[in-house]
Amino acid sequence: MNARVEPMATPVNVYPPVEKDTAPERRSPEYVQMSTAAAITLRLLAGTMHRTACTNCLNLLVTYPEGCRANCSYCGLARHREEDSAYADRNFIRVDWPTARFADVIERVQNGRDHAAFERMCISMITHPQSGEDTVTLLDQWVAALPHIPVSILSNPTTMTYADLEDLKRRGADIFTVALDAVTPEIFEQTRGKTVQSPHRWDTYWRAIEWAAEIFGPEKFGAHLICGMGETEQEMLEVCQRIRDLGGHNHLFAFFPEQGSRMQDRPPVPRDHWRRVQLGRYLIDYAGVRTTAMRFDAEGRVVDFGMEPTELDALIDSGTPFRTSGCPGREDEAISACNRPYGDSSPGDIYSFPFALNGRDVAVVRRQMAGEDVTSFAAETDD
Ligand code: SF4
Repeated sequence: MNARVEPMATPVNVYPPVEKDTAPERRSPEYVQMSTAAAITLRLLAGTMHRTACTNCLNLLVTYPEGCRANCSYCGLARHREEDSAYADRNFIRVDWPTARFADVIERVQNGRDHAAFERMCISMITHPQSGEDTVTLLDQWVAALPHIPVSILSNPTTMTYADLEDLKRRGADIFTVALDAVTPEIFEQTRGKTVQSPHRWDTYWRAIEWAAEIFGPEKFGAHLICGMGETEQEMLEVCQRIRDLGGHNHLFAFFPEQGSRMQDRPPVPRDHWRRVQLGRYLIDYAGVRTTAMRFDAEGRVVDFGMEPTELDALIDSGTPFRTSGCPGREDEAISACNRPYGDSSPGDIYSFPFALNGRDVAVVRRQMAGEDVTSFAAETDD
């Protein structure tokens, strides 16, 4: 993130990521990590975010000094990194995740320090023996204190049972999400499975998605999917269709080569590939278009989106398909409260737009879709 982030004088202690050997014993449920955007929105950190004043989702992460016990190749939190950095010094995705006391976070939101920006809260689990129990504790405390702000659970299917999902629903969780991330069994296995000494299994993740469909119901569950880890556009969109057919929604992330992860040298997803997948995902999730109506070339690239051209043009001009996808806010089901500013790209080369696109942004997106090597920075410099 291009935010200028400096700890500020505040009655609440917020702890930026720290160096190895000085990582203190801060653990959930007393403490949580939060995205930098959430900390800025809550006035826990001073800073500004490029072209967006705030995030509408308070993204939290359970935290333990001993860290996540999984070892996913693309993740900055992976276990193999414990040799070179303290857990608190690792990034979840791209941006820093500072730590604060959960009770202080709740109090700040109750006191309106977010200026009513938060339309949703999200608890991200990690692979840790305490993660499930602590997620329940955090959920209970939030629902008791701030029942008007719905909660999403970004789950860890590897450690969860059917009864765990039922319990979360009964306690007031609104949306249940599974970070499938990789969309083919092979890529899943190579990036998150036995190959990299990580405990996750493709079938376990799909079983959790099916449980979520049963327990949480239509529109109340979803999947995180990372675009650009070796799958084709067709493979990605067919998984989007499978999730949609179950009743869920798809939350897309552009692959970002996180420094220190095993995939740090893999290039980001090509911009034209990413834009076509963003558009196809939106058509599947919100416009009733099916992959069977789309056409793909021999390399799996979309060559026909299955929508009448003038209608498709109007949709592209709206810019909506290119905004960050995720759990909805108050106003519009198709606009995510969870805009994750600069979580998958830099402000100079935006992949998921955390704000409404203007005409110049859309013009850049169109050039990217046509295969031009142009970044969103061009929208600010072209006249
Ligand atoms: S889209 Fe955002 S709010 Fe929803 S589960 Fe994912 S991180 Fe949480």
